Amino acid sequence: MIIQSKLPDVGTTIFTVMSQMAIDCNAINLGQGFPDFMMSEELIELVNQAMQKGHNQYAHTNGVPILRQRLAEKMNKLYGAAIDGDSQITITPGGTYAIYTALTTILQPGDEVVVFEPAYDSYIPNVEVNGAVPVRISLQYPSYRIPWDEVRDKISSKTKTIIINSPHNPTGAVLRDDDIQQLQTIVEGTNIMIISDEVYEHLIFDGLPHLSMLRYPQLAARSFVCFSFGKAYHCTGWKMGYCIAPPAFMKEFRKVHQFNCFSCHSPVQYGLAEYLQNEDAYLGIGRFLQNKRDYFQQLMLQTPFKAIPSYGSYFQCYSYADISDEGDKAFAIRLTKEKGVAAIPMSSFYKDGTDNKVLRFCFGKKEETLAKAVERLLK
Ligand code: GLN
Repeated sequence: MIIQSKLPDVGTTIFTVMSQMAIDCNAINLGQGFPDFMMSEELIELVNQAMQKGHNQYAHTNGVPILRQRLAEKMNKLYGAAIDGDSQITITPGGTYAIYTALTTILQPGDEVVVFEPAYDSYIPNVEVNGAVPVRISLQYPSYRIPWDEVRDKISSKTKTIIINSPHNPTGAVLRDDDIQQLQTIVEGTNIMIISDEVYEHLIFDGLPHLSMLRYPQLAARSFVCFSFGKAYHCTGWKMGYCIAPPAFMKEFRKVHQFNCFSCHSPVQYGLAEYLQNEDAYLGIGRFLQNKRDYFQQLMLQTPFKAIPSYGSYFQCYSYADISDEGDKAFAIRLTKEKGVAAIPMSSFYKDGTDNKVLRFCFGKKEETLAKAVERLLK
């Protein structure tokens, strides 16, 4: 029996490939984005307590109410957004799932979706599996800013949504005020929705504000905004996130969600609801990661890699154009096998394999890990 593939062009995600190669080669893994330092013991304890108290059965399909209420309060405080936890927030098993669910909720076959490349690797397959058509636009290299004139040219009556991601994975670029103005102008008077991937909201550096869609009522009214607890609290393996959208959007999102995972891990939700009361825990993360970015960048100055500025996320991109002419995949494999350092080749984030000779490194690691990695690169 042969399955007619819904994703004939798709292989195994580059994160799994590079992480496996790092294990096989005993390499330091600066590829897949996850911290190698301990998360908050307090949060672990709160989840533990929730289990001891008996919160071990199905949570409400939309998420534990107290967690949704606290998230609504947080969004109000941070972004001035009036969000109703009951009708506008759904807890999901991770940010990627929230994005997939939002796309599946809105897309009809033939709809067009504007996707900026380099794009997080799930976006285009998420569009295609729904029979919709990705309209790819390259971010300007090396600033990775959005070419708004091209967006204007490429939107049409078929454009259902634009996928926005700030802070941006894989580049670390962030949206600025003028980007928001351009976006507002372009979507005004249209039915274009926005899927906003804001999983790195707190991982933003140099005093820059996170320009969430939730800050702008006219944008929020057409947006599904997706977040991640894994990134905020250094627990990517918990696979916990949430989506915020206007009530009418969320009603449809929940129809898809309830028959997919139904509901998320209960004790973690109770633990998070408690831990959210501690503002410092999430407000301090930007500074904490910024120090790691600076530490890594300083060390990398000793190598011939050229840094491309990163203003947020776990990642910084480096050009190796002065080192080798090799394709980025071959170069990344050789770096892993011969030097013992794994990174992600940027061409993986372009459907046509655009190769600017750039690798993405994850600096969200212990200082000793970063130091050891650079020591290896220097050999
Ligand atoms: N978000 C992580 C990264 O960009 C990977 C998550 C995953 O492997 N699906 O590296």
